Amino acid sequence: MIKRIIKKGRIPIKLWTDEIEEGALRQAENLSNLPFAYSHIAIMPDVHEGFGMPIGAIAAFEDVVIPHAVGVDIGCGIHAIKTNLPQINKKQLQAIVKLIKSAIPLGFKKHKLPQDKNLMPSPLSKLSKNFVTYKEYDNALYSLGTLGGGNHFIEFQEGSDGFIWIMIHSGSRNLGKQVADYYHRLAKKLNERMGYPVPESYELFFLSTKSQEGQMYLEEMNFCIGYAKANRNLMAKRIIGITETVLSKRDIVIEEHDVIHNYASLEKHFSKKVWVHRKGATKASEGDICIILGSQGSESYIAIGLGNEESFKSCSHGAGRILSRHKARKSLSLANEIKKLNKLGIIHSLNSKRDLDEAPGAYKDISKVIQNQLDLIKPIIQLRPLAVIKG
Ligand code: 5GP
Ligand code: MN
Ligand code: MN
Repeated sequence: MIKRIIKKGRIPIKLWTDEIEEGALRQAENLSNLPFAYSHIAIMPDVHEGFGMPIGAIAAFEDVVIPHAVGVDIGCGIHAIKTNLPQINKKQLQAIVKLIKSAIPLGFKKHKLPQDKNLMPSPLSKLSKNFVTYKEYDNALYSLGTLGGGNHFIEFQEGSDGFIWIMIHSGSRNLGKQVADYYHRLAKKLNERMGYPVPESYELFFLSTKSQEGQMYLEEMNFCIGYAKANRNLMAKRIIGITETVLSKRDIVIEEHDVIHNYASLEKHFSKKVWVHRKGATKASEGDICIILGSQGSESYIAIGLGNEESFKSCSHGAGRILSRHKARKSLSLANEIKKLNKLGIIHSLNSKRDLDEAPGAYKDISKVIQNQLDLIKPIIQLRPLAVIKG
């Protein structure tokens, strides 16, 4: 439910939470003052500070696209696999985890060999030679099917529907970052030339969707979305293969879903076509499958969208950070966090103090985050983590 409406800016901010950190609130206020921002800004219960725009937020713009409002990891999302396995024992899981770790590059690692070009979203010949994605194409072939670092993960889960689920959370790797950085800098240069119609300190440099640069960004963004999907797909194929081999089973997949949470798309809202930017937010049109992540120590959810216009038909994408990476490493106890995970019987990825930024204690309480958005989604399946692999 909307907990609070702030009417200080040019348009209102609607918040599905009563808790928001100062930095994220300031960023929401900046968004609400943009001359092209449309209707209102929607803040999800997993909100926390990001670059320019908070993560866990939705903003719609008229004829404008903002690279920092899409996010650096363009097309980041989740591939979820429902298997027909009623259970999986710890020994089997340990064997699967070991094989996955040797087959899929984690963290900043890439493949030693380029991956199949046919898996790329479109052939090189179709890309403009001026594109970042054209220049990065060969590098991207080595990163296809790799997890990345931070909160990207591969997770085996026990579903409340009685089946084992496998989730892959990853994005467009270095390719998306190169595109995001390039167009952010280009937008800054163009905005500077215009005398900064939007204050420089907002870090929300924009491109007109009617300009050549804006059109180029959109094309490259879409390529990165396709690449992020292909990246998750390839990992999914390999993980399914490994799981089937270890269990000596075939055809274990019942359903597969792929849901993105960092992108912009042209949609009609309140009878106008606008560029909806979902940054760490999930589309929740009526009947959509939505995936909401918890943490490596708490449950994630499969939900059905209710199509509520108030959030531009969106919902949260996760629990959201409660502690910044730096604060988590400084203030959480490694022994306590490990004890929590061991008690739950989870094969986890928490080994050193450096990993504390991804400990369960760094994230908000997912059940509360879900409770706060029951007007946006209907949760249908709860997924409890069994094994978590992080980059
Ligand atoms: P983001 O897309 O913003 O990088 O992260 C999305 C969300 O993933 C976070 O807000 C957090 O709730 C969730 N998350 C982080 N680590 C894990 C994990 O290991 N397992 C699960 N299930 N969720 C996680
Ligand atoms: Mn993500
Ligand atoms: Mn990501």
